[in-house]
Amino acid sequence: AGSSSSQELSPVDPQWETLDPNPDIRALFLQFNEQFFWGRLAGIEVKWSPRMTLCAGLCCYEGRGGLCSVRLSVPLLKLRPRKDLVETLLHEMIHAYLFVTDNNKVYHSFHDEVAEYRQHWWRCNGPCQNRKPYFGYVKRAMNRAPSARDPWFKDHQNSCNGTFIKIKE
Ligand code: ADP
Ligand code: ZN
Repeated sequence: AGSSSSQELSPVDPQWETLDPNPDIRALFLQFNEQFFWGRLAGIEVKWSPRMTLCAGLCCYEGRGGLCSVRLSVPLLKLRPRKDLVETLLHEMIHAYLFVTDNNKVYHSFHDEVAEYRQHWWRCNGPCQNRKPYFGYVKRAMNRAPSARDPWFKDHQNSCNGTFIKIKE
């Protein structure tokens, strides 16, 4: 009892990082469903995706049966603060809510979330620094330097030929 009962803490209160650093995503989902979504998300599944790296979270809709499922990325979230997991989960729950209430499939690019997890940055030191659309930047979630393994690498060598230098990690 007292001033820090779980009902009073924000879902992203820093105290949660130590109180419950590795939450069970299904338990969180059930709790938020009651707390914020009037229980309307019962029956929606929530799963970890072991290989999803393009976005931290996804809400997908399957077929006319109306199945809706929330996926969370293991590589992008497992080693991050709990707060990132909670914010991603709530974001996807809002998509799921719009889906179940309005059948409103709000597709948007997950560019904002993706950018947040792209911690590894390289910049070319050549003339493409001044060219659209990338201005020489490569930003990645994983520490994989631009190399001949990238399908665009030859194009870049022909059009610029600068060297990619790590600028942020
Ligand atoms: P990721 O591995 O992060 O998904 P991709 O391998 O799909 O990235 O390549 C996309 C990134 O590679 C772009 O955001 C840009 O930074 C860089 N890139 C792609 N094509 C070119 C190009 N022709 N010249 C220079 N950089 C490029
Ligand atoms: Zn370049």
